[in-house]
Amino acid sequence: MEEKDRYDVVVVGAGPLGLASAFHLAHELPELSVLVVDARSSPGEGSMGASNSMVRDLFSSPENRLLARSSIRFYRSLMDEQEELRTPVPLLDLFGYLWLLPESERGAFHELLGRQTDPLDARALEPGELRSCPGIELAPSRWYEDDRAPPPEPITGGVFARFCGAVAPELLARFYFEEARRQGVDFLFGACVQRLSFEGREEILLHERTRTPFAFQEHVKGRLRVARVDLGDGRSVRTERVVVAAGAWAEKLLYPFGFATACAPRAQSLFSLSGAAVDELLDWEPPLDPIDTAGGKPRMPFLVLPTGATLKPVFRQRQIWAAQVDTVTHPVGTLEDPARDGRLDFDMRRLGEREAFATDLAPAITPYLPSFGSSRVRLERSWGGYYCMSPDGLPVLTVERYGVVFVGGDSGSGIMKADALGRLVAARLAGRTHGRLASGDSFLLDKLSLASREVEPERLVL
Ligand SMILES: Cc1cc2nc3c(=O)[nH]c(=O)nc-3n(C[C@H](O)[C@H](O)[C@H](O)COP(=O)(O)OP(=O)(O)OC[C@H]3O[C@@H](n4cnc5c(N)ncnc54)[C@H](O)[C@@H]3O)c2cc1C
Repeated sequence: MEEKDRYDVVVVGAGPLGLASAFHLAHELPELSVLVVDARSSPGEGSMGASNSMVRDLFSSPENRLLARSSIRFYRSLMDEQEELRTPVPLLDLFGYLWLLPESERGAFHELLGRQTDPLDARALEPGELRSCPGIELAPSRWYEDDRAPPPEPITGGVFARFCGAVAPELLARFYFEEARRQGVDFLFGACVQRLSFEGREEILLHERTRTPFAFQEHVKGRLRVARVDLGDGRSVRTERVVVAAGAWAEKLLYPFGFATACAPRAQSLFSLSGAAVDELLDWEPPLDPIDTAGGKPRMPFLVLPTGATLKPVFRQRQIWAAQVDTVTHPVGTLEDPARDGRLDFDMRRLGEREAFATDLAPAITPYLPSFGSSRVRLERSWGGYYCMSPDGLPVLTVERYGVVFVGGDSGSGIMKADALGRLVAARLAGRTHGRLASGDSFLLDKLSLASREVEPERLVL
């Protein structure tokens, strides 16, 4: 390898969390040598590349609000500073989120909007303001033909949130990658980390067969420490500190030596749609006041239906991307196992089950938008990636153990919190108790740890 064979810190994963961590590490601790290793051929090709790439600051948990809002602010400030992040494609397009709500959910949302501290840039809408939405059925009479279940709940209001919209993932990944590299961070692509190894340290005793340390050494303070990362092609890099930002695949590296993440990878699919009914929605001029408009005109917002199904406008491609969080029909885990195979054959197309649009997603959309079950909507493509689900919908940043730190648990909203998490990782490695976010807020690192976790669980996982 062209790079050195020893680094102060190795970051596993060049997704948004690994990239932002490397970028902030380079700023925070410029004296350290840092290497980012990724199994893919370029940055952001894991779940980031498969994602919806939406951002929002409307979360029920105050910690999530803070992490997302400060990151979105940072992304916005980058746009203000750099022309190439504004045109031809903007890094951020804040066209807003619109939750279409049944009566049973309005109370919880109104409570969120009514808070005095940390107010949201969002407002409640009455049904009259929603009627201009093309093809909308506010009070559906059935789920689908011949079903015997009680009809879906009618929509009796909405909430429009303004500090929300889409981020261009390739621009974000490129920014962190290029800036980190400029600061001296090395990158190694096409290299899969197969194992975090203790071998090569004189002071650690290892089992002959498994090459893992004897348990009693954990009681000798400071003794157990990672020695190197082993790559699937037989090479290795020596280091005493590793940041595992490997997304859904992190557990494959961490579980073999008893390092828990408490997170569960779940496959999630996306479907791109086109056609006459899609065009009508994309051409809709809603009675809303988003931050970013098209020549002063509001556009279709990101729609969240009462069933949890979501519709993202993709204006340039004249498409809508449809999705729904699925923690029911997909087994927990990843198809790929870098620790077993020494490579990561992540295939977005394989994870997008085309037939699931008709069987799983359409029934969650068509009661409220009947034309999505007709020939007026065409299914173009399907693909998928993973959510790394934490138990409470908030990210996880562990304390350093054996020189290893895990950051993950994105629960489907890691891109929109990546900058904040990168800052917290750098603060963790600097040995501080708090990190400073782009918004100026101070954040207690242990809030996101597993041992001293102190967060309000998230109710709005999309
Ligand atoms: C369908 C879908 C929709 C989504 N929508 C949104 C959204 O709207 N907004 C949002 O913020 N988030 C969304 N997400 C979630 C988002 O993709 C994740 O939060 C984000 O990608 C997590 O970042 P990460 O860096 O932890 O993981 P990843 O992006 O998966 O990056 C991990 C990297 O680690 C590398 N890696 C893993 N194991 C190894 C190894 N052993 N050796 C070397 N490299 C390794 C991988 O190649 C990968 O590049 C969505 C995800 C999906 C699947």
